[in-house]
Amino acid sequence: MSTLQDQRILVTGASRGIGKAIALHLAGAGAKVAGLATRVANLDATGAEVEAAGGEFLALEGDISDPQTAADAVAAIIQAWGGVDGLVANAGITRDNLLIRMSAEDFRSVVDTNLGGSFHFLKAVTRPMMKQRGGRVVLIGSVVGAIGNPGQANYCAAKAALHGLARSAALELGSRGITVNVVAPGFIDTDMTSALTEEQRQAMADKIALGRPGTPADVAGAVSFLLGPSGGYVTGQVLLVDGGLSLG
Ligand code: NAP
Repeated sequence: MSTLQDQRILVTGASRGIGKAIALHLAGAGAKVAGLATRVANLDATGAEVEAAGGEFLALEGDISDPQTAADAVAAIIQAWGGVDGLVANAGITRDNLLIRMSAEDFRSVVDTNLGGSFHFLKAVTRPMMKQRGGRVVLIGSVVGAIGNPGQANYCAAKAALHGLARSAALELGSRGITVNVVAPGFIDTDMTSALTEEQRQAMADKIALGRPGTPADVAGAVSFLLGPSGGYVTGQVLLVDGGLSLG
């Protein structure tokens, strides 16, 4: 039997990049995957690939910074599949600028989406998972939440805060068999990082012990571990998947 056979898992930001790789990896391990993006049409490719491989996919849409999106998404999964076993809060945005030029709006939107969105989805799965007396939650953070990054004060603040959110939730929910962890990727090749120049990419790669950027599949493997049977005794942790970038 596959490691995640029939597990019902919600992945936000499943249309592209890391979220899409996570959705495909989980479906490949036997999970039923509900993917969410800003528009359902953006999930066509992910859904087609999951279904072509024999998996089950539920496409959902909404803005993760709106608590109603999270409530509606979880209600839709419960209606379709009768419960929810896993959450991967992956969707996120950047609005980079140096602190001196960063607008309050760019700070607010990144915190509302990256931190607020994770909170809304974590909260929305809490009650059904408590009733089931079990569940797995992975919040997608970032290595820069631990080490900082010039030009990303808003993003780093939001990602760092996920660590506190996960630890507190792990303490509150552990007695119900629910684990909550953060996977913090390093520099991963996706749309989010494609705006960098070749020079910037090289400078980043030079800092990575493994000497290359990560792939979305590198992150998906770590997420799958925490959602699967081998990850059941890990909670409240931050797993850096950064090729050694944070080692200095
Ligand atoms: P990406 O390629 O830009 O994809 C972002 C995903 O999030 C898309 O599916 C997008 O949906 C969705 N999304 C964005 N804003 C949303 C909103 N308000 N409501 C609902 N969905 C929304 O990003 P990525 O590189 O895969 O990053 C995924 C996660 O990993 C993010 O949390 C990011 O911070 C984190 N991360 C990335 C890296 C990296 O190097 N790439 C490193 C560390 C951490 P649409 O298609 O509908 O727009």
